[in-house]
Amino acid sequence: MYHDRGVGGLSEYGDGTRCVHAGLPPAQPGEPFLPGPVFAAPYHLDPQAGPAGAADRYGRTDNPTLRGLEGAIGELEGGECVVFSSGMAAISAALLTLLSPGDQLLLPADGYYNTRTFAEGALVRLGVTVRTAPTAGPYPPLPGIRMVLLESPANPGLDVCDIAELAGAARRAGALLAVDNTTATPLGQQPLALGADLVVASGTKALVGHSDVLLGYAAAAPEIADPLRRWRNLTGAVPGPFEVWLAHRSLSTLDLRLARQEENAEAIAGLLVQRPEVTGVRWPGLLGHPGFEVASRQMRRRPGVVTFTLPDAAHVTRFLRASRMVFSATSFGGTHTSADRRAQWGDPVPEGLVRLSCGIEDRADLVADLTRALDAALEGAASDG
Ligand SMILES: *Cc1c(COP(=O)(O)O)cnc(C)c1O
Repeated sequence: MYHDRGVGGLSEYGDGTRCVHAGLPPAQPGEPFLPGPVFAAPYHLDPQAGPAGAADRYGRTDNPTLRGLEGAIGELEGGECVVFSSGMAAISAALLTLLSPGDQLLLPADGYYNTRTFAEGALVRLGVTVRTAPTAGPYPPLPGIRMVLLESPANPGLDVCDIAELAGAARRAGALLAVDNTTATPLGQQPLALGADLVVASGTKALVGHSDVLLGYAAAAPEIADPLRRWRNLTGAVPGPFEVWLAHRSLSTLDLRLARQEENAEAIAGLLVQRPEVTGVRWPGLLGHPGFEVASRQMRRRPGVVTFTLPDAAHVTRFLRASRMVFSATSFGGTHTSADRRAQWGDPVPEGLVRLSCGIEDRADLVADLTRALDAALEGAASDG
């Protein structure tokens, strides 16, 4: 199992079981459950057979720690996985490998801003035409487009789109469909099973989930995964063994972490919709969410991220200062609850828009803390006025 990068051998089991066992080597007396990171740049070569003599020759090309994690994520995504040093390394690798000068790329207008920034700079310079469409649609006719990159739920607005429907449209148009699965994680949805050609994602967020590792990956059929692995070798976008091992170690609790985050997000979304100063509460599990129906159909669980809007930037500052539990931080999906005012990073959103990432703290503590912090932020507004 260790040498497989997308075995599907655990597909009959539930999420918790799959997370615990994904990518582990067969049990061997005297060996650990998950072997530690292998710190090696070169490996011993057979003096006569040279590179043909063993799987491992040089760490950038391949190594046993990488194979373990790739087996695990490939198992969960249902495809062959290639791990990268960050989500952006995976996304840029996919775009640069699969697109050629003259191609058209369709991106979400409301998705992760660095993907758009990369495409509108580097890809446009290489002669790729970049178009955008809102995640919730409408989408332009796809004939003539070489690749569609979806993000569902989109970061930070959490709009969703029907991946299976767009996969059908892409196939008819001869376009490749890639899905950024960062927010959902492979336990939330499996884009490859919904018809996508390729998954790209940041593992930095909920997948690894401890706010201590930068990581990315792509997952696809071998025709797409193999060129990406060659690309990674030639560009050097390979994560170090310690990061890879930390990520693999963290995967065994993914099911538990996501379950608690979803539970907390549900409670907090319920709290937020009742606050008159809070507008635009977005969570795909909320009955009033515009993508509720599509999300209910295509997602197996809802993310721990809730987006909402406070009256202005100063209101957000007062809220963050008053909270004892919510860390002010970007990123999301970690075990600690955190909040990020997205306009401060240049996202085209209202000044008071907050992306709240629910951690795994006790729900009652979080609800009490948020209620208190929102009340305090309101009082501040009254005394300012
Ligand atoms: C964070 C993020 C990325 C980039 O991932 P890094 O690991 O930070 O490079 C890509 N897509 C989405 C949706 C993200 O949230």
